[in-house]
Amino acid sequence: MHERSLVQRLLQQVQQIVAEDGGGQVTEIRVQVGDLSGVEPLLFQAAFEEMVSDLFSSECQLALDIVPVMAVCHACGQQFEIVDFQFQCPACPTGAVQVIQGDEVKLISINVSSDNPVEGVAS
Ligand SMILES: [Zn+2]
Repeated sequence: MHERSLVQRLLQQVQQIVAEDGGGQVTEIRVQVGDLSGVEPLLFQAAFEEMVSDLFSSECQLALDIVPVMAVCHACGQQFEIVDFQFQCPACPTGAVQVIQGDEVKLISINVSSDNPVEGVAS
């Protein structure tokens, strides 16, 4: 399953970042998922819940940000949202367009709660 391998890669990435940062308990992992990435959010969530306890506490939450697909027109430079897979500039229908957002699965942030918080440091 596509989502399982993505989740596995994500968890390994988070584990590495947290380890390099000195460890701690991961409480939330925020991921940006583009509409074009082919990821089914419900399957991604299910795979996450199934696999997260292998590396982290099962208390660790997944936050999914679904972002729209954005493209830029090479002819006029206009940026616009792709709706219903219409890869066409609204201003010049013959222009070539390039997707600039929406085809990725990206790690945005990790929340870590330390077991030994340092006193006097505002979080
Ligand atoms: Zn255009």
